[in-house]
Amino acid sequence: MKAPGPIPHGFRAEEGELVVAGRSASAWADAVGTPCFVYDGARVAAQAAHFRHAMPAGVALHYAVKANPFLPLLARLRSSVDGLDIASGGEQARAVAAGWSADQLSFAGPAKGDAELAAAVRAGVTINLESEGEATRALAAAAEAGVTPRLAVRVNPPFELRAAGLRMGGGATPFGIDAERAAALVRRLLDGGADWRGFHVYSGTQSLDEEAVATGLGQAVALAADLAREAGRAPSQVTLGGGFGVPYFAGDRPLDVAQVGARFAATLAARSPELADTAFAIELGRWLVAEAGVYLTRVIDRKESRGRTFLIVDGGLHHLLAATGNLGTVVRRAWPLAIATRFDAPGAEPQSVTGCLCTPLDRFAEDAPLPRAEPGDLVAIFMAGAYGASASPGAFLGHGPAAEVLA
Ligand SMILES: *Cc1c(COP(=O)(O)O)cnc(C)c1O
Repeated sequence: MKAPGPIPHGFRAEEGELVVAGRSASAWADAVGTPCFVYDGARVAAQAAHFRHAMPAGVALHYAVKANPFLPLLARLRSSVDGLDIASGGEQARAVAAGWSADQLSFAGPAKGDAELAAAVRAGVTINLESEGEATRALAAAAEAGVTPRLAVRVNPPFELRAAGLRMGGGATPFGIDAERAAALVRRLLDGGADWRGFHVYSGTQSLDEEAVATGLGQAVALAADLAREAGRAPSQVTLGGGFGVPYFAGDRPLDVAQVGARFAATLAARSPELADTAFAIELGRWLVAEAGVYLTRVIDRKESRGRTFLIVDGGLHHLLAATGNLGTVVRRAWPLAIATRFDAPGAEPQSVTGCLCTPLDRFAEDAPLPRAEPGDLVAIFMAGAYGASASPGAFLGHGPAAEVLA
């Protein structure tokens, strides 16, 4: 038997049922249908408040839209974060539709098309340049539009954030400009009349190691100072891709953000004079929204096969690929889930939870010790707020999208 991963703190049962954002799982299922994603806006706001409390005063918080681009969520975030990181023209359109103004947006992404660059430059979005070639195209788009472009330089650092999860930076990469060439590009932007906004350094994702995160932030600040000296100009802003992780699996411990904040405060207090007037921002996706999302899916069939029991649900990996171990993980590990309609039921028997897709990849739990469930019961899959609906192959097998709702 493989126990599911740890259920995020703060979830409770009421009359036997899991409560999500103040309503029972059944109430949500009745209201919006299954499968569905329920996002708890209060949890997102609480994470943002936790960040503010832990980080030195004045450090801005930006949200990376790719973690969850649900429009009502983007609108709600206007009251708790200072800016959005977008990675496509489509995300720019969503951000604007959600009420953000273009000067609160920064645009990263390794292959921005000419039309995307033109739209961003015209609107006044800050573009995080990923190459010299992109700089040439952005300057040309600005000249064509007759505007002063807001351009930052995304730097591929000469170091690597050593931590769990995806690694970016350090080696050869399609992202950002190698640090060795960044100052020359800054000079070119200044000579070209651009509004140079500073540096952007993104060094990793999903780290639960305070030491690694704090060291990465410190190295990025030191790198920005070196580059400022080399370029002969101080950056007005330095944006750091934080890589703050969340606990998904047994043995994972939540990141101690207070500890990271204390270390970052010391880093900023000791920063070199080039950066005295520089504003700092930390850009986070997953950490802000992952725990706020619950995916609810209904048991369609309960079946036995050669001594094993399968709970077959109406959802699947087409909505939540990561929970089936098929996104960004090498070893399949047990994701946090529960029988929502028997949340405090005693007793457990091994049951496998599998999705509705006609592929053996579609499984959420293997012989997990769960209360005995029957058709009609609801399964809750936790940690579904980040890299869920939009990071899953929604067209695969034609079942259609899940409902999404922000409470
Ligand atoms: C993906 C991404 C982020 C967000 O990463 P998380 O691990 O979700 O916090 C931030 N900045 C950039 C440039 C990204 O590409």
